[in-house]
Amino acid sequence: MDRPALQAGLEKTTRILAVADEVDEALYGDKLKTLRPDIVLGCGDLPFDYLEYLVSCLDVPLVYVPGNHDPSLEPPDVSWLPQPWETPVKGPEGCENIDARVVEVRGLRVAGLGGSVRYKEGANQYSQGQMSRRALRLEVRIRLKRMRAGRRLDVLVTHAPPFGLAETTDAAHVGFVPFVRLIRTFHPVLAVHGHIHPFGRVLAEGKLGSTRVVNAIPSRMIEI
Ligand SMILES: [Zn+2]
Repeated sequence: MDRPALQAGLEKTTRILAVADEVDEALYGDKLKTLRPDIVLGCGDLPFDYLEYLVSCLDVPLVYVPGNHDPSLEPPDVSWLPQPWETPVKGPEGCENIDARVVEVRGLRVAGLGGSVRYKEGANQYSQGQMSRRALRLEVRIRLKRMRAGRRLDVLVTHAPPFGLAETTDAAHVGFVPFVRLIRTFHPVLAVHGHIHPFGRVLAEGKLGSTRVVNAIPSRMIEI
């Protein structure tokens, strides 16, 4: 993104459409365009064709992290095979996977960490220790970016919530301790997540220091 656009992005508010875990049927129809988001954040566990529908209708950047019900999007290790016969799962077309990455989108610096606390076999699940190492590697990547407007990170996108921020105590849903550390270190304006189903209720925003913590299920419009 060029410099003036970056600057403009910092001055104006950014309209974020965040989606997670459940397809919001209300977004199939005229309502979607009236939301006029600048960017879409996908917090995981959504059908790829739903994300492709959103990005094609809105024509704005869509970045996402995988949830624990998504397939592994990592290329398999095929170095020991004479030739790769399993092609890696491709993510949704036109969308950008930001798992363990930090990117610039519409003047915002956005980092992502997908997956949930491990509770069974399968992809995109991690112990607290494994996520801690992933978070540390991400922290290094964030630190390598130059500080901008007094901040290195504007938005943290995760599938699981930060530990202690969800009204649940079961092992699969308690959330990650390392997310709390990331938020306390970088003070992003917003941390958005999914994974904790509100069962139709609209949950109040949480707060961690100055960071707004929002459960996006099934969809939330957020201005920052
Ligand atoms: Zn989940």
